[in-house]
Amino acid sequence: MAGAPAVRVVRTVAAVRAARAELPGPVGLVPTMGALHEGHLSLLRRARGECRSLVASLFVNPAQFGPGEDFARYPRDEERDARLFAETGVDLLFAPGIEEIYPPGHATTVTVGGAEERPEGLARPGHFTGVATVVTALLSIVAPDRAYLGEKDAQQLAVVSRLVRDLALPVEVVACPTVRDPDGLALSSRNVYLSQEERRQALSLSAGLRAAEAAFAGGVRDASELRRIVSGRVSSQPLAVLDYVSLADGEMREEIEGEVRGEAVLSLAARVGGTRLIDNVRLRP
Ligand code: AMP
Repeated sequence: MAGAPAVRVVRTVAAVRAARAELPGPVGLVPTMGALHEGHLSLLRRARGECRSLVASLFVNPAQFGPGEDFARYPRDEERDARLFAETGVDLLFAPGIEEIYPPGHATTVTVGGAEERPEGLARPGHFTGVATVVTALLSIVAPDRAYLGEKDAQQLAVVSRLVRDLALPVEVVACPTVRDPDGLALSSRNVYLSQEERRQALSLSAGLRAAEAAFAGGVRDASELRRIVSGRVSSQPLAVLDYVSLADGEMREEIEGEVRGEAVLSLAARVGGTRLIDNVRLRP
């Protein structure tokens, strides 16, 4: 779609509030850290189809990266992203500088109880507080009617849904399915870090989840067995180092021991070469 008009970019809280006030509702928000891929685009298209106005945000949030993580080298290409935002029909792009979100003296954080004790939270101390804080700020600044989030980041989706309920924020969270490459690899901005061989071995993540899904469909309900199917696949790849495999209830609040009785989320994180990847599937009896 060459020749889409340039997207309107605003960089300050005051400017986005003023522009948002002029937009006809319902207003959809798609928060991103940029380096857009088809996963992001699927959220944008869905929101475009369901809302009269579409706002996107582009902010690489330092607070959700731990020391030693990839904040400094996270892929950034605002020009390309702006073109894609324009092509998907974004009405307003909020792309603030860091000091706009974290002005001097910023001292307030949002912590969702329990999030730091679940596997992804344990693996990345402070990560979900960083996520919850920035999402709360974005929801307060943009005041969308709906916020579109990907199931790819399952615990993030659970944390945001929880905080919206607990704080009675006037927004509907819309969960969007994970977009994958045809061979199964879940799309991620971090996939660009993978060498060809690492990418090949990274397929064990989705293959392991699919194998467990098939076993579940075939009647396997034992949580340890389902976790073992996933870890077996990933561990067979020399460049893949498993961080965790988790099988939790549908809201990802507790690990399931014994038999799976209701809806469950099977998730994992693994380092493939130097790149940390996550993936998950939802199991529905
Ligand atoms: P990020 O830019 O990584 O913060 O992601 C922005 C949004 O896109 C989040 O709600 C993610 O869950 C979602 N997202 C990222 N990758 C995918 C994917 N492969 N499929 C669907 N949604 C995704």
